[in-house]
Amino acid sequence: MSLAKVFPPKSEILFEQYQKLYRQSIENPKEFWGNAAKEHVDWFRPFDKVLDGGFEHGDVRWFEGGKLNISYNALDRHNPNDLALIWEGDEPDDIRKLTYGEVLRKVCKIGNALLRKGVQKGDIVTIYMPMIPELAMTMLACARIGAVHSVVFAGFSAEALGQRISAAKSKIVVTADVGRRGGKTIGLKDIVNDALTKLDCNSVIEHVMVWERFYNAESSASPPYEMKDRDIRMDPLVAVQRPYCPPVHMDSEDNLFILYTSGSTGNPKGLVHTTGGYAVYAKMTTQVTFDLQPGDVFACVADCGWITGHTYVVYGPLLNGSTSFMFESTPVYPNEGRYWDMIQRHKITQFYTAPTAIRLLMRYGDEIPKKYDLSSLRVLGSVGEPINPEAWRWYYEVVGRSKCTVVDTYWQTETGGHIITNLPGITPMKPGSCTLPFYGIDTVVLCPTTGKELTEPDENGNFQGVMALKSPWPGMARTCLGDHERFLTVYFKPYPGYYFTGDTVSRDKDGFHFIIGRMDDVMNVSGHRIGTAEVESALVAHPAVAQAAVVGKPHEIKGQSICAFAMLTAGYEESPELIKELRGSVRSEIGGFCNPDLIVITPSLPMTRSGKIMRRILRKIVCGEIDSLGDTSTLADPSIVETLIEKVEKL
Ligand code: ATP
Ligand code: MG
Repeated sequence: MSLAKVFPPKSEILFEQYQKLYRQSIENPKEFWGNAAKEHVDWFRPFDKVLDGGFEHGDVRWFEGGKLNISYNALDRHNPNDLALIWEGDEPDDIRKLTYGEVLRKVCKIGNALLRKGVQKGDIVTIYMPMIPELAMTMLACARIGAVHSVVFAGFSAEALGQRISAAKSKIVVTADVGRRGGKTIGLKDIVNDALTKLDCNSVIEHVMVWERFYNAESSASPPYEMKDRDIRMDPLVAVQRPYCPPVHMDSEDNLFILYTSGSTGNPKGLVHTTGGYAVYAKMTTQVTFDLQPGDVFACVADCGWITGHTYVVYGPLLNGSTSFMFESTPVYPNEGRYWDMIQRHKITQFYTAPTAIRLLMRYGDEIPKKYDLSSLRVLGSVGEPINPEAWRWYYEVVGRSKCTVVDTYWQTETGGHIITNLPGITPMKPGSCTLPFYGIDTVVLCPTTGKELTEPDENGNFQGVMALKSPWPGMARTCLGDHERFLTVYFKPYPGYYFTGDTVSRDKDGFHFIIGRMDDVMNVSGHRIGTAEVESALVAHPAVAQAAVVGKPHEIKGQSICAFAMLTAGYEESPELIKELRGSVRSEIGGFCNPDLIVITPSLPMTRSGKIMRRILRKIVCGEIDSLGDTSTLADPSIVETLIEKVEKL
């Protein structure tokens, strides 16, 4: 990586302590996790066994015999007067603050409302809601009564929502009349209606429960949307419920939620997470990775439709009793200073976002963040994709004023929480590296062909291969919804004995991990295995490039040739000179062998709705296989596909 500078930890002693504790956690995982489970979670009944089962059959179970309720752990055990949630809506002056006492009472009322409408323990409730406090509270209410929530990101189409409702066989869908984003209103209830007309198993649905954004008990004689017989208005129903609902004593391995992956590499996978292990893992990773302290205002700006929102907006911060900041809008509404303005106004201490947002904001220049007082910040987090060193440096220097830790957290929907990340003040930082494994996470690098752990470094002293894990951890998903065979096939069969992440990694001589791309995306050019992240970083290092994506295309002589797609920064124009400069940038950052055969300048890139580049679509386009693009339901803006096909055809 080009920015090879290492940022040493504040104290070598703390780093040595990490190494020692890490070794212990790997050598004796049962003792380590048994202690962690007792320390981080309150159990109604203690567990009998720490871990049982394994990867071969996918029958892993943690803390068997233990009884707990995650909503009890997230709410009841904290000071009712402390602030639990600060919410900022689409408009910056639309703010709500709720204490733990207020959230607990409302969660109980929602829980009682769901019970009233026939929801039983184990039922899957589909939630299709905007980022409002009621979303978090509906999730917690499901957990309280033992129902399983399946949150579907509110940007999904009726089709995608319908498929997820069907797969879950939900009797109840909880939604809101509208969502708001970037000044626009989205009729969510209408989309639910649409989804239900498309459903073959429509008869399963008993009720659609609707939160009304601007509900007013006095004035709303009739709701501002089309009511059907099965619809229930949430606000009046909740208002009359008792504000206490006893938490169901859940088995450690009872299902807690269903959640789908982003669909970057194929058909989204509906993963099932269970209660005990997830609670321990969410609680502990949030506290340790973000160095949570009493009084912190923790802001993760991800949507609850993704795992980042589940673990680091709702469960992690609340299990820790801290204040979670919840955000409905976009980083550029009403202007490009929105994040910095929020940090200043709410004195946010930890801020957690994705590389795509950092790259976007970086291109608006340093002047915007510099206008704000960001001195409350201590930790800046990144998640979702490899963060290129250029964006890392900007985040560290311009946003963090070279005083904050940047934690590059590597994990997946499947892992429940961070699995590789640096820890503030403890781990040295290397820009572009997610650094070292979290406690109890046994990472290995496998040879893609033999499936064996690599023992010999390559000519640069690195171990490059398949990113895999050797033993179970409490936060891992337990199965794919309704399809355990798929779970085994995708994660455990490719490399028997290991959990397969699907990513390629390079581990350096210090044991630091650099995620270099998806397994499917790694290119092989004239015998060199090249990761997408490296070439994309070299392109983004040029000021003209805001975002880049590269893919390989079969080539008679080289095996594969590199095709690059670049989105320009405002103010730059496409020209032959610029293309030449971009080639120069790749050559000087990595080497001549990575020279792209094709550089396509594009107005945007195919991204998932969670902000990740969908390279599989680009690969199909450069190979001319446009009839078999695969599942495009998770594309944020499907119209970009046509534009790209036309551009590539003209070249
Ligand atoms: P699908 O599995 O459907 O293709 P997805 O893998 O994008 O979608 P997620 O579970 O949301 O769905 O994303 C996990 C993936 O995101 C990881 O496997 C990895 O490729 C990438 N990722 C997440 N965090 C990081 C990080 N800090 N550094 C590098 N890559 C990351
Ligand atoms: Mg994945």
